Amino acid sequence: MIITQLRATQPDADRAPQGWRRSLGQILVRVDTDDGLSGYGVGGGGAAGIHVVETALREVLIGARADDVEGLWDAMYRHTAAYGYKGIAMMAQSGVDLALWDLRGKRANKPLVEVLGGANKAVPSYRTGGRNGLEEALAQGYKAVKFGIGAMDAHAELDAIADLFGDIRTVTGPDIQVMCDASMRWDVEGALRAAERLVAFDLTWLEEPLLPEDFDGYERLMRESPIPIASGEHEYTARGFEALMQRGLHAIYQPDVCWCGGLTELVKIYALAKRYNVSVCPHRGGEVWALHAIVALDPDPLAESGRPWMTWVRDQPRVTDGNIAPNDGPGFGVSFHDDLWAI
Ligand SMILES: [Mg+2]
Repeated sequence: MIITQLRATQPDADRAPQGWRRSLGQILVRVDTDDGLSGYGVGGGGAAGIHVVETALREVLIGARADDVEGLWDAMYRHTAAYGYKGIAMMAQSGVDLALWDLRGKRANKPLVEVLGGANKAVPSYRTGGRNGLEEALAQGYKAVKFGIGAMDAHAELDAIADLFGDIRTVTGPDIQVMCDASMRWDVEGALRAAERLVAFDLTWLEEPLLPEDFDGYERLMRESPIPIASGEHEYTARGFEALMQRGLHAIYQPDVCWCGGLTELVKIYALAKRYNVSVCPHRGGEVWALHAIVALDPDPLAESGRPWMTWVRDQPRVTDGNIAPNDGPGFGVSFHDDLWAI
């Protein structure tokens, strides 16, 4: 189980949204070992992430034992900490960590949900999207739906935002969970005004209204917002999440396992959440990279729909009647076309 090769590539994702999610988008990492197994994981950072994997992280991994996943996490962290332990280097490390977990599952010949001590079962999923497609999502059986509205100004367009959620609530009726994602675009005053107006529509959470490091702003929102505050998709490492939890900055924490440090960190974040009595709801948790942990470790599981443009991950589990379960295959239970490595 000695690591012989470490590679990364950025598969074509034609439907990826423009901006950083394309230029610094998801990368696929592959770790090969001398016993003939290959592990796969998804990280971030685009070409910059690939560079981190194939230079600094390769120096750490080649020749190391693949089963020392946590030890290798620490070694990678120390080796790249000087680049900044949040951001591209950690996004790249996340993909490597996930590939090592995939190998761990493949060696045990078990899906990772079982390696993590859980039993495979379907969990509820929520659909993220726009107002278009709401009726379709409800027809597919989703019991929870989230709407990204960060492009709407919380001051100038508050009436339109309230009208939108009024319309959504009319369509869903009272029994569907409805969430609002402001994608870091608002200020604290706008977020509070919006929360006070939107509370009438019984929202489950208001997501990421402020920039991630506006700690004072989040502290005030936690005191004054009548809607629970969710955030964390742009936070990194269990250490980073613990700092937020110590200060009580969110009600629901949303680590992205492909960015925050991989499954090694998500397992720790779940343990921290138990200690601090807060909820975890991983970003894009319906993708296999977080789904096994959600099924195994989450006391109140809810898996967000996956990034729809990541069609190059084969055998992804599908949402059925609003629920999703990991595949039973070993590791993460997905595969990749060999052509991806011919580029
Ligand atoms: Mg979000």
